Amino acid sequence: MSTETLDKAKSNLPVRGFLKIDDLIIPQGEDLVKAILDLKKEKNAVILAHYYQPPAIQDVADFLGDSLQLARQAKDTEADMIAFCGVHFMAEAAKILNPTKKVVLPDTQAGCSLADGCSGEGLRSMRAQYPNAIIATYINCNAETKAESDVIVTSSNAETIIKSLPTDRPIIFAPDKNLGRYLAKKTGRDMILWDGSCIVHEAFSMERIAKQLAENPDAKLIAHPESETPVLDLASFVGSTSALLNYVEKDDCQKFIVATEEGILHEMRKRAPHKELVPALVFDESCNCSECFYMKRNTMEKLYLCMKYELPEILINEELRLRALKPIEAMLDLSKTVK
Ligand code: SF4
Repeated sequence: MSTETLDKAKSNLPVRGFLKIDDLIIPQGEDLVKAILDLKKEKNAVILAHYYQPPAIQDVADFLGDSLQLARQAKDTEADMIAFCGVHFMAEAAKILNPTKKVVLPDTQAGCSLADGCSGEGLRSMRAQYPNAIIATYINCNAETKAESDVIVTSSNAETIIKSLPTDRPIIFAPDKNLGRYLAKKTGRDMILWDGSCIVHEAFSMERIAKQLAENPDAKLIAHPESETPVLDLASFVGSTSALLNYVEKDDCQKFIVATEEGILHEMRKRAPHKELVPALVFDESCNCSECFYMKRNTMEKLYLCMKYELPEILINEELRLRALKPIEAMLDLSKTVK
C-alpha cells in the first residue's frame, strides 16, 4: 500500500462514526487471524470480548466474559492497548477503570438500547424527585449516567449488591425495568424503576416459547433477567450470562431453550458439546434469531483495523471519568465474592 493510500485510509478512521474500509487491503481468513495475533504481540495489546460477539472474535480473544468479568480484566491488565470487542459503554468502562491504557473499539456505532435510553440529566431529575433514594444503575449505561449513580451493578452481582443496600432508603433502579422488576421480586426491595429495556431480550415471545416448550418436553428454558416477566416466569433458571453458561454445563438436562442473545451459544456449545441448545423464539415469525444488532457491528476486519491504526479510540474527560469511577469502584467492592 502506498503512503498516500495509507494516509487517506487513516484519515477515514474517525474517533467516532463508521469505519470506511473501502480503500484498505485487509487480510482474509486464516491470514486475518494471524494478522490480528501479530498486531497483538507488536502492540502489547489484549483482546477482551463479550459472549455476544461474533464467534470468530470470541475465538481470537484473550479473554471472553460478561460485563463484570470484562471490567475486572480491563482494570487489571498490564497490556498497553485494550482492543475491546463489545459495545461502547463496555469499552468506556474499561477506559474509566484503566485510564493510562489505550482503549480501542472496532466500531463506535456499537451502542445499546439501554444505554441510549437513559441520560445523566434524567437521573439527576429522578434524584431531585426522590432525594433520599440510592441510585443503583445497571452497567449498561454511558459515563454521564454512571457519574450520577451511587452504585453500578451487572446482572451477575445485582442481587448481591441490592441486598447489601440500606433498607431505610428507597432504591432507584435504572435503566432496565425488566431486570429491576426481577430484582425487586428476588430481594423483596421496593424499587423505583427507570422505563428502559433491551431490544433483544424484549423481543422474546412468551406464546411462541410456550409452544416451543410444549413441543420439546425434555427441554428446559433458561433466560437472562433482561427478558420480560412472562418469559422469566416460564424459565427453569434465570441468570446472568455467566450463570447461564455454568448452568448449561453443570445441569443434568440435555436440552435447553436459551432466551438471551444467541452469540452465547458459541461458548455454550464449547462447554457442553453433547447438549442440544436451541435459541428461544422471538415475536417476529420471519426471524428466529435473537442477535444484538449493536454487538454484531464489530467484525474481524474492523478489529484488525482498530488494532492496526489504534482507532477509533475511547477518550473521556478526566473530571467525568473520576465521577463515573466512584460508583463502579463501589460495585467492585460490594461484589468481591461474585465470580
Ligand atoms: S443485547 Fe441488549 S443490553 Fe446487550 S448490548 Fe445489545 S441492546 Fe444492549
